[in-house]
Amino acid sequence: MLLKLQENIIYGPIQSRRLGRSLGINILPPSIKYCNFNCLYCQYGWTDFHWLKNKKQMSFPETKKILEAVERTLTSLNPKPAYITFSGNGEPTLHPNFHEIVNGVIRLRNTLSPASKTAILSNSTTVLNPDIQKALSNLDSRIMKLDTGSQRMFLKYNRPAKGVKLHSILKGLKQLQNVTIQTLFTKGADGNYSKENLNDWIQKLKFISPQTVQIYTLDRDTPSRSLCSLSQEELADINSLLKKEKIASEYF
Ligand code: SF4
Repeated sequence: MLLKLQENIIYGPIQSRRLGRSLGINILPPSIKYCNFNCLYCQYGWTDFHWLKNKKQMSFPETKKILEAVERTLTSLNPKPAYITFSGNGEPTLHPNFHEIVNGVIRLRNTLSPASKTAILSNSTTVLNPDIQKALSNLDSRIMKLDTGSQRMFLKYNRPAKGVKLHSILKGLKQLQNVTIQTLFTKGADGNYSKENLNDWIQKLKFISPQTVQIYTLDRDTPSRSLCSLSQEELADINSLLKKEKIASEYF
């Protein structure tokens, strides 16, 4: 079953494979998938790009409402979460007030839950925007998507909106300090687990020089019927390839 879209700003805390006990913040419109990718494996199903064209008409949650919701939750939550994570119904950096929201959430974390870390799960498409790059740098952890190593495979697997280019993403990721790369591998006719993609992807990782790479596979249904999960052995093989290249990584 695909995952139901978030109806609210706050969700969880959930037990995340990669972050532990994580409080999710969805700053995108409720019950709408708002993303500039249409990944074959997206847990929320296919993207309707027509929402992107109507950005001015979209009702994004207001900064004040988001910060009030975070404040209420952090005040009442016990125990506090290990992570406060921007994620939710698509790509969080597409909110028009992303920078302001990040700074507000960090201020609340500092006073109400100082031991929690702040993080984002992002598809990396806006990373070249200086304002977004600055906001990302203020977070404790930037977990940025890079599933493929060539424009051809990128178009096929992540199916971006018009104008999104892999080379711009790579340039932006290289500029970010201490970046964590997240890569979801799948097998099957349209999967990215091929020798060719692995070689291309490793070359791009060498260019970016990430702090670490998170490798994982499916744990939910996918909109595309042509994908399947990797085994733990296959994930471990990819991890070993990165170790040989002296790139820090973990698999889940
Ligand atoms: S970037 Fe994330 S939300 Fe967007 S389509 Fe891909 S998996 Fe779904």
